[in-house]
Amino acid sequence: SYAGIHSTGFRDFLLKPELLRAITDCGFEHPSTVQQNTIPQAMLGTDVICQAKSGLGKTAVFVLTTLQQIEPVPGETSVLVMCHTRELAYQIKNEFVRFSKYMPEVKTAVFYGGTPIQKDAEILKNKETHPHVIVATPGRLNALVRDKYLRLGSVKVFVLDECDKMLDQIDMRRDVQEIFRATPTQKQVMMFSATLSQEVRPICKKFMQNPLEIYVDDETTLTLHGLAQYYIKLDEKEKNRKLNELLDELQFNQVIIFVKSTLRATELDKLLRECNFPSIAVHSGVSQEERIKRYKEFKEFNKRICVATDVFGRGIDIERINLAINYDLPADADSYLHRVGRAGRFGTKGVAVSFVSSEADQEVLKSIEKRFEASVPEYPAEGIDSSTY
Ligand code: ADP
Ligand code: MG
Repeated sequence: SYAGIHSTGFRDFLLKPELLRAITDCGFEHPSTVQQNTIPQAMLGTDVICQAKSGLGKTAVFVLTTLQQIEPVPGETSVLVMCHTRELAYQIKNEFVRFSKYMPEVKTAVFYGGTPIQKDAEILKNKETHPHVIVATPGRLNALVRDKYLRLGSVKVFVLDECDKMLDQIDMRRDVQEIFRATPTQKQVMMFSATLSQEVRPICKKFMQNPLEIYVDDETTLTLHGLAQYYIKLDEKEKNRKLNELLDELQFNQVIIFVKSTLRATELDKLLRECNFPSIAVHSGVSQEERIKRYKEFKEFNKRICVATDVFGRGIDIERINLAINYDLPADADSYLHRVGRAGRFGTKGVAVSFVSSEADQEVLKSIEKRFEASVPEYPAEGIDSSTY
């Protein structure tokens, strides 16, 4: 840098050397805007409520700032992170593992339903394996607390990722509240999402004290950088043929195809495999173990096409996805944003194509354009230039 002008680097945050080394290993060069706005205060223990576009690195905000502050004590959990799906919990746990690479004393575990609770209990019983950081879905975590496998008396940081989703589902909200009450009053609370409506903000803030409030985008102008969006109007019965065409003509690295039900996911995946497409399906109709296995297979690039329901719509980060297809349009604009946000992560380019096959779909498309103040054009008959995505 010359004349004292330089862009902010991770070094400027004065993070521990162990963390800086891991950051370098991960290939992160510069912090994103949301990281610049949040990390300095969050690492001092301030409560945080943060809304920023998907793909801009919210996970690193809470992973780095909690690891910065952690003082691991054997047998005590000091960091609690909750999110709404099992795959996301698994992914976040891996982020903790990645960034604590040079902090070998820090132990992380992930707990979620659909697996034997006894296994989780074993991990908690043993001082050698008892985690300092727990990433979990609320139902399982609450069960572990209720059955006294886990005590939360030493929790210092309480994080909710995709917090709006967790707080607007009654069951999940109840679990979150019960868990919250089992933790000490003095603690840091951080909440994150790509969408935080005016209605949900006060609900979030009830859990916090004088939080730092970061809303990187005003919700009306929430758009996705680098993501080209199109729709295709067609009949339900034309969807398969059209999908086939798109998969042939678009040059994607990995694609995620969203459908509205488990049954449709299974059927479409089968169909694609019969047409020799390297497809895999992720939805709640398969066992938990199998779900994580499939998620891994896709993440590790062994499969290039993933047919999914909304369990995959939020938070999931797979760098190589540059095409998202709404085979079935979701029911509302928020779900749309979370789904298509799977393509074009961290400023990379991507394309989203949505099938519109009913009057209801047309209405949803209109509400999407209105909500994001953007027009979603019709997919051009001649296709699109591959240099644009
Ligand atoms: P969000 O939760 O905001 O949707 P994620 O935390 O999932 O976004 O991050 C999206 C992707 O960007 C991840 O692959 C992550 O590793 C990457 N990423 C995050 N911060 C940086 C950075 N500063 N430099 C480079 N890549 C980053
Ligand atoms: Mg996220």
